[in-house]
Amino acid sequence: MRIDLKSLEAQFALELLRSGSGLARRIRAETSIKSLTKEDRSPVTLADMGIQAVAGALLERYFPQAILVAEEDADYLNTPKGAEDLKRITEYVRFFSPEATPEKICRWIDKGQGEPAGSFWTLDPIDGTKGFLRGGQYAIALAFIKNGKVEIGALACPELELQDHKALGKGVGILAVRGKGCWAAPLDGLKESQQWVRLEVSKCREIHHARILDSFEPSHKNVEKNQRIREAFGTQTDTFPMDSLAKHAVIASGGAEIFFRTLSRKEPERREKIWDVAAGALAIEEAGGRITDIEGRELDFGAGRTLARNPGLVATNGLLHEKVLSALREAAR
Ligand code: AMP
Ligand code: MG
Repeated sequence: MRIDLKSLEAQFALELLRSGSGLARRIRAETSIKSLTKEDRSPVTLADMGIQAVAGALLERYFPQAILVAEEDADYLNTPKGAEDLKRITEYVRFFSPEATPEKICRWIDKGQGEPAGSFWTLDPIDGTKGFLRGGQYAIALAFIKNGKVEIGALACPELELQDHKALGKGVGILAVRGKGCWAAPLDGLKESQQWVRLEVSKCREIHHARILDSFEPSHKNVEKNQRIREAFGTQTDTFPMDSLAKHAVIASGGAEIFFRTLSRKEPERREKIWDVAAGALAIEEAGGRITDIEGRELDFGAGRTLARNPGLVATNGLLHEKVLSALREAAR
């Protein structure tokens, strides 16, 4: 089977991965990256907002009627305090959309304020903003959702090299289409179908040999509980800390077997945002792996802006999934 890059959906996704990662790399190459703090205390950069603007502009061109549910909004840029940053974002976006003006930038960003419906796109312009600021991994994540299921997942991981596909180099794009597999190509060669390779999860069946990924940020994980769960696996090895959906890309490519996110005692009601999971979830499934919540239930992307019905996350190569779930149950007792 070869990848089909001709559909309008694939073209939209690839154009966003290409321009978005170009914009992110440009901003990250600068000596200091300005970071703002949102109401929920998480950071946001000009790259987050610039990429969401590029997505809004492309969506207007490809699918003017489509709904986009994305992480950022233009509220801050519309205030007098945000005027200078709006000017800078406009300059960045002009490299990719020469018709950009400050007014258009705000309109394109706020195109992402759509409400989830029967079918819609969801975007995290930069997943792993803390990784982006720190020099770690980050991802641009776009997914198309229909009736609660992810139909298309697209990821750009500009800092990622896949160990089992070194020939792709550093900086990979990933495209997963339901029923059509999960594929990867160098970010500089997304348009050429011969550059794409099919990804498959690892065949490891021994949980004590499994490579386990974990969030990099201590505040995103329950350190002691996760340690207890790994002890229940019988593993002695350390985890591989990594930011963002790059973790999902690594599992899909066979470079690791397990990632799980438990709930912390402080935030037992916390649920994942759909844009933080959707693209990576389909990548893993189409590569032959499995992803569920910590109770083993399938993820339901039809419950609003969050995975309201799914606590936590368990992503594996499939072969180890039940073993991970039972270790989680054991540790919860
Ligand atoms: P990770 O790179 O695995 O640490 O996850 C990154 C994503 O988790 C980002 O989209 C963050 O916005 C989101 N996140 C924010 N707060 C938390 C939290 N308390 N626990 C888990 N993930 C969080
Ligand atoms: Mg995110």
